[in-house]
Amino acid sequence: MPNTSTALSPSVGDYLKALWSIGKDESVSTNDLAERLGISSASVSSMLAKLKGSGLVHYQRYRGARLSAKGRREALRLVRRHRLLETFMITHLDYSWDEVHEEAETLEHALSERFTERLANLLDHPSHDPHGDPIPNTDGSLPDTPNTPLAKLEPGQTLEVARLLSQSSEALTYLAELGINPGTEIEVTVREPVGGLLHVKIDGTENALSRELALLIEGRTIG
Ligand SMILES: [Zn+2]
Repeated sequence: MPNTSTALSPSVGDYLKALWSIGKDESVSTNDLAERLGISSASVSSMLAKLKGSGLVHYQRYRGARLSAKGRREALRLVRRHRLLETFMITHLDYSWDEVHEEAETLEHALSERFTERLANLLDHPSHDPHGDPIPNTDGSLPDTPNTPLAKLEPGQTLEVARLLSQSSEALTYLAELGINPGTEIEVTVREPVGGLLHVKIDGTENALSRELALLIEGRTIG
C-alpha cells in the first residue's frame, strides 16, 4: 500500500470493522460506509478497490462492497480485541463503561495475537463484553446473544437485559443511572399509545423510557 495516505485516514481494519458492523455478510453502499467513517465517497471507492486487490472485500462500483471470508476473519479478529480490551478496562482498570470505547478503538490496532490470548486467559474467556456485545471466538464464531428489543414488549412482560446497543456515553450513563445493565430485569407496566413511551419497573422503582431508548435495550423475555 502506498504511504501517501494521511495519518488521519481510517486504517484497513477500520474499513473492515465498519463493513461488518453495518452489513455483516451483506453488501454496504459506498455512501453508507463514507458516512460511518466520516470521509468522502471518493476516498472510500479508491480504498475499496485496494481492499478488493488484497482479497479482503468483494466490490463492484455502484453495487457496494461486502466482506470476503478473509476480510470477515480480519474484522472479527479486531472486534475480539476491542471487546476484550473494553472488558479488561472495566474489570481491572476502573474505567466506567461509557469511557472505554474510544480507548479500545486506538489500542485494538496495537495488540499482538499473543497479547490478545493472554488477555482472554486473564479474563477467563468472557463470552460478552460489559455492554453485552458478543466477543467473537478465535475461530470467528459469535456467542449467542438474546436480541428482543425492550420496545417490543407488551405491558406485563419482563425483559432480562442482555445487551445495550449504544456506544454513546450519554445514553450509557443515563441507562446506568437508571440501574440498567446486562442482567437487569425490566418489567413493562404501561405502553403509551402515542409516541411509544414505556413505563417500566426496575427493582421495584417506576421509570419512563422513550421509545428511542427502549430500542437500544435488548434481551430475553422471561415472563
Ligand atoms: Zn466499543
